[in-house]
Amino acid sequence: MKFQKKEFLNDVERILRADYACDIRHANKKELYNAVSKAVMQEVYPDWAASSAVDKKRCGYFSAEFLMGRAIYNNLMNLGILDDVRGALASVGEDLGQFEEVEDAALGNGGLGRLAACYLESAASTGLPLDGYGIRYRYGLFRQLFVDGYQKEEGDDWLKWGDPWSVREERDATIVHFSDMDILAVPYDMPIFGYKNGVVNTLRLWSSEPVRPFDFELFDTMKGDAKAVENFNATKICDVLYPNDNTMVGKMLRLRQQYFMVSASLQDIVRKYKATGKDLRKLPEKYCFQLNDTHPVLAIPELLRILRVQGLSFEEAFEVCHKAFNFTNHTIMAEALEKWDALALSDLLPDVYEQIVACQDRLSEQQPDSSRFFIVRDGIVHMANLAIYVSSKVNGVAEIHTEILKKETFKDWYELFPEKFVNITNGITPRRWILLNNPELAKVIDSKIGDAWHTDLKQLAGLKPYVGEILPDFKRIKAENKRKLAAYIKEREGVEIPENFIFDIQIKRLHEYKRQLMNAFSILHFYYGIKEGSIKDFPPTAFIFGAKAAPGYYMAKAVIKLINEIAKLVNGDAEVSKFMRVVFVQDYDVSYAEKLVCAADVSEQISTAGMEASGTGNMKFMLNGTVTLGTMDGANVEICEEAGRENNYIFGATVDEVAVIKRSYNPSAIINSSPELKRVTDALIDGTFSDERGVLKRLHESLVSGHEPDRYLVAYDFADYIRVKETLLRDYGTDAFYTKSLLNLCAAGKFSADRSVKDYAELIWKIK
Ligand SMILES: *Cc1c(COP(=O)(O)O)cnc(C)c1O
Repeated sequence: MKFQKKEFLNDVERILRADYACDIRHANKKELYNAVSKAVMQEVYPDWAASSAVDKKRCGYFSAEFLMGRAIYNNLMNLGILDDVRGALASVGEDLGQFEEVEDAALGNGGLGRLAACYLESAASTGLPLDGYGIRYRYGLFRQLFVDGYQKEEGDDWLKWGDPWSVREERDATIVHFSDMDILAVPYDMPIFGYKNGVVNTLRLWSSEPVRPFDFELFDTMKGDAKAVENFNATKICDVLYPNDNTMVGKMLRLRQQYFMVSASLQDIVRKYKATGKDLRKLPEKYCFQLNDTHPVLAIPELLRILRVQGLSFEEAFEVCHKAFNFTNHTIMAEALEKWDALALSDLLPDVYEQIVACQDRLSEQQPDSSRFFIVRDGIVHMANLAIYVSSKVNGVAEIHTEILKKETFKDWYELFPEKFVNITNGITPRRWILLNNPELAKVIDSKIGDAWHTDLKQLAGLKPYVGEILPDFKRIKAENKRKLAAYIKEREGVEIPENFIFDIQIKRLHEYKRQLMNAFSILHFYYGIKEGSIKDFPPTAFIFGAKAAPGYYMAKAVIKLINEIAKLVNGDAEVSKFMRVVFVQDYDVSYAEKLVCAADVSEQISTAGMEASGTGNMKFMLNGTVTLGTMDGANVEICEEAGRENNYIFGATVDEVAVIKRSYNPSAIINSSPELKRVTDALIDGTFSDERGVLKRLHESLVSGHEPDRYLVAYDFADYIRVKETLLRDYGTDAFYTKSLLNLCAAGKFSADRSVKDYAELIWKIK
């Protein structure tokens, strides 16, 4: 984008006058943020219109979550005007950095939503016509704070900063019909800028509104009728994002959200397609749709319904859906696969349910073995099965994950439709995850291999011969990033981290399978070892955590409490705190992640083998030059393939071993035969920590009693984990260690989301 400083500042000034009746000198942060953003937005219209007018097949990426993060810096960078705008603002005494206070758009929970955001950016940057479709939640993922070590949630009012990067497109408003009410869906379009290539794709987020303006008469006639009031409130279906990661809560509101989003999107797309006068049977020549996990799978019966209303036979409509839809699976955990009560669904969406039943009938006819092949069974609708049955392609998100889908999770389906199953390993956009968050390191790389790697990440391999040469720069930049992070943590969390400590970081949603608990136990183990003298010359290390726990996830919240208690114990110990610090940062989000991954010495990726479908956090650390301490799980396997297992720190049971171990697992026996493990687990119940609510006690119980004690094999992997972890920490600081770190960066090419979206485009979407 061309940039003219004088015109830009004039535009900003003009917008400030019109919208806020002030000038640059008197504008507050929010006003300036909006004016600067709008001054840019008014210039992008021609490219945006041109990109969407191109007459080629497009793909719609349907996702209930888009974890976009902060827009302004990324947008300015991709438009190629980041430094220009910074300079222009500086010339009038304003710091571009002040917009760091602007809220992240956190319309997602974790990896799944962030993946959607990375894919949109990468598609625009590689020139692929991919548009996102989702929900414009009024409140995004909750804001987290700690009170007495417990997580507390607050509403995330992200719109209080305004939303200058979206355009309300009222002319495309659509009515979504539920059996008990109609709702107006109004789209807000957000431009997705390709990296310095003039391409502008779209993220279309639907907002729900009453069809008629607030109806006092209707409200009055409800007179406390609970059902009526509930229906009335349903016009607010976009109010909040469900704060669950890897679990489903089968609430009716969630069903409404999912249908609302796919119905509005498909009605809009079909209407526009019909306006071109083409045959609806040929819709898949112009559009295809990627279903990001089970949340948007209602799109399938909804498109069937729409097409049948338009006069297609069921078989014709089925054929269109088969060609148009593809499905990505993100987890093998049964509790995360969407299921609906058939009665509830047929009550709320009778016409849609009818199409689901028709799919079931078609399936029964082809595959009478209903114990293996079913969509509706015992009054439950299985959305994953519906997606697999109808879609052209079903993909897992890392090689090991796709193999597990084929061999276990969807074994029967794989036998029936082997050609449907493909792997597309996840990726991350290198623009946000190194150019933007680690510009100094990017410059050093540019100085050796040029800048073509910005859009062709495999070229990082060309840096290998220079690793020795850039080692001093790499160390200097890492140290500087650590210093900045330490200052930020001091300011936000009030915890002091000496910058010469090793930064050992685990950041990801809090989940038992991710095993933050095992990390916590290792810290306690080191603490006791240092204290009693059995561990000598411990390399000074800061153990840093960031994670939100779903508000209703008891065990996850207990782990947060435990780690905060450990932090208090360690940081408050005059002796041990010379060797260790522990901090759990509050409100981990995309912006915090940007600061953490470039300052890490150790990337903790320690899930129970088989449980983490891919992970993308692991890739962010790798790209910023960090070794992985991890299990052979998800994309860690491919990270080792690319960077060499010898350049990472791998431990623990493998997927095959986990299956065997689980057959006769007795965690208590392991705990009782290991004094080290006994000591750290006993700490949960022997009064070491304050536990007024008994959450640590329950955590202990989850390890030693109940139906499936220690389901995620913390006790089993503990010994190997602390052995490898201690080895890693003692390796730290040598040139050999920094070389390993850099070799990981050089090998990160495969994990570019540019590669992922190109794979999708070629193997699945057939778009160019
Ligand atoms: C990348 C990212 C994730 C995913 O992290 P994993 O370690 O792959 O689970 C979650 N949350 C945020 C904010 C992220 O940026």
